Amino acid sequence: YFVAFEGGEGAGKSTQAVKLAAWLKLRGYEAVLTREPGATDIGMRIRTLLLDTGGDSAPDPRAEALLYAADRAQHVDKIIRPALERGAVVVTDRYIDSSIAYQGSGRSLGKGEIAWVSAWATGGLKPDLTVLLDVEPEDGLHRAKAGGEGDRLEQEQLEFHQKVRQTFLDLAEAEPKRYLVIPAGPTVDEIAHTVREAVAERLDI
Ligand code: C5P
Repeated sequence: YFVAFEGGEGAGKSTQAVKLAAWLKLRGYEAVLTREPGATDIGMRIRTLLLDTGGDSAPDPRAEALLYAADRAQHVDKIIRPALERGAVVVTDRYIDSSIAYQGSGRSLGKGEIAWVSAWATGGLKPDLTVLLDVEPEDGLHRAKAGGEGDRLEQEQLEFHQKVRQTFLDLAEAEPKRYLVIPAGPTVDEIAHTVREAVAERLDI
């Protein structure tokens, strides 16, 4: 069973992914908690290329999209697919829909093209459930910057993050069965509870 958390900056994905994996372990499941970019050795190196972009070293948007795809191909091959094959529950912090939102929409490379590249990179592996933590970019950016990510995030305009957010919402609307959309507002624990209920229902536990 494969769960992905998606959302913009400061949405609380990492916190919720940790909580869900811990709860699954308590219920006796093997839970593999992972993230993008950077879950594998090669992925860590790609993450550095992608995110440590001081000065004018930011990659060209197409190069960026391919680096995310390369990270994801390695992630699926080395971590996600083997874990699913042995019956583990995989919980990932970001997956394909982040690329559709950030590279496809934010960087205007085309949602269809990025979906295609991602499908190729992953051999078509999609999550069973995608949890979208939806947050207003103004609020999320404020939280993310308070968490020390100011310099990198300053590089993007608010409009970029608004496009990212809208694309996640559109993806959720297009695939309501796969998506659970949780608007910001409730406490961390209330959100964790909602996520657990959705996963429990689907796993039949
Ligand atoms: O999940 P996390 O916030 O650690 O992701 C790091 C950053 O990578 C995000 O803030 C986002 O700006 C960027 N990202 C991206 N495209 C992706 C995934 C992440 O631009 N496909």
